[in-house]
Amino acid sequence: MPVLNIARLGHPILREIAKPVDLKALTEPGHNELQRLIDDMIDTMREEGGVGIAAPQVARSLQIIIVEYQQNERYPSQEDIPLTVYVNPVITHTSKETTSFWEGCLSLKDLRGLVTRPREVTVKAFSREGKKMVVEAKGFLAVVLQHEIDHLLGKVFLDRMTDLTQLAWAEEWETYWTEKEPTQSPEAI
Ligand code: ZN
Repeated sequence: MPVLNIARLGHPILREIAKPVDLKALTEPGHNELQRLIDDMIDTMREEGGVGIAAPQVARSLQIIIVEYQQNERYPSQEDIPLTVYVNPVITHTSKETTSFWEGCLSLKDLRGLVTRPREVTVKAFSREGKKMVVEAKGFLAVVLQHEIDHLLGKVFLDRMTDLTQLAWAEEWETYWTEKEPTQSPEAI
């Protein structure tokens, strides 16, 4: 499967509202174009070391996000996230309680920023097979889902930051911030 090019900040597609996926086209028998795109997005996310990816990040204006995380020694505190494809995802509930997390992004690869978001969210979406799903997420998964769904709304994590002094290059962040902060960031969401 080909690995796709990542659209980086400045590419106009990252600022567009992504188009809804036609579920009929998604579930068309055979290895259709949308299913191929999903496979390529999975390969691209894994190749780039991301915890999630949204279709606009591979320059496709479609409401598809994919998340996956397997615990590694570097970030042992985060729970695993099984590979999941969300088509036309919508956040239907957010908790009042918030959590702050150092985020990265494949489209802003070397930056890390502290972002405060609701701690828990409920997401309604469709699977890649076109089946309805409702996911209640908290903690790390809730952060990743909100970050990826933001990409479908033309937003990046910088837009969610309230204090830009909490923005750093990854290398400096590792040098100066990791011991001060109890929360740790994945490579890139
Ligand atoms: Zn991102």
